[in-house]
Amino acid sequence: MPSVHVITTPAAMSAWSEAARARGERIAFVPTMGALHAGHVSLLAAARKQGDRVVLSIFVNPTQFGPQEDLARYPRDLDGDLAKAASVGTDVAFVPGVADMYPPGAQTFIDVREVAQGLCGERRPGHFTGVATVVAKLFGIVRPHVALFGEKDFQQLAVIRRMVADLNMPVEIEGRPTLRESDGLAMSSRNAYLSPAERGRAVAIFRGVSAACERFAAGERGAIALVESALSAMKDRVDRIDYVEIRDAESLRPVERLEKPAVILAAAFVGATRLIDNMRLG
Ligand code: AMP
Repeated sequence: MPSVHVITTPAAMSAWSEAARARGERIAFVPTMGALHAGHVSLLAAARKQGDRVVLSIFVNPTQFGPQEDLARYPRDLDGDLAKAASVGTDVAFVPGVADMYPPGAQTFIDVREVAQGLCGERRPGHFTGVATVVAKLFGIVRPHVALFGEKDFQQLAVIRRMVADLNMPVEIEGRPTLRESDGLAMSSRNAYLSPAERGRAVAIFRGVSAACERFAAGERGAIALVESALSAMKDRVDRIDYVEIRDAESLRPVERLEKPAVILAAAFVGATRLIDNMRLG
């Protein structure tokens, strides 16, 4: 199996991309925080079909974590990540250090407005500023033709699409479906935090959004009733619900009656672990 070429500095990454572009190669890019699972690997496999060259980034971005969040204990497994990346033909892993990405004196942050407000934007103040800023920086360094993101982080994908459109960034954004465990739990690097008992309960988030989907399929169009069916499937199984909301699938604005494609989004704590999930309605 060919190994993945590891690049650690922005200058070396840019030089590699510059050379690939000069050869006329199309660069497909998958940004991650590492601890790769099959969901990440599915993005890399899709990238392999999209581009002549596939670049993965692994960077646990401190600016998207709140002070009370899990930055210090976020799972890290570079060797495992490189093996998984190699298995689907990834060319380069860009693995910068924090000081490479945020040298002293940095003062510029990207503030996406409405679509980054509410949901995780409200529950994790500053999170999407950190996400948008690091993704903009990665795009500037890697200069991909196309970048692939998971719909698992639905609001993040909407924020990135908005940023790319608003700032005329010359990159295509492709959203990809959520990969799930066999019982339906959305794959997440944070699932590694769950004890066996918590893992058993965590599936309730999937069951909640699924319950709303089923009721939607049966004809219900009122957001309150759909949210209610999700909440009742979740509430005795999870430890705290952050939000369950129905939003327009494009704008992420709140909706009361579902007349256009919508999405149900949920975030809840199981033990100390905060998990998110979502499903499209229509
Ligand atoms: P992360 O490492 O959590 O920042 O995620 C990196 C990328 O993988 C993001 O675009 C995520 O949306 C995507 N991703 C995370 N979990 C999944 C999943 N279960 N299925 C598909 N993509 C995912």
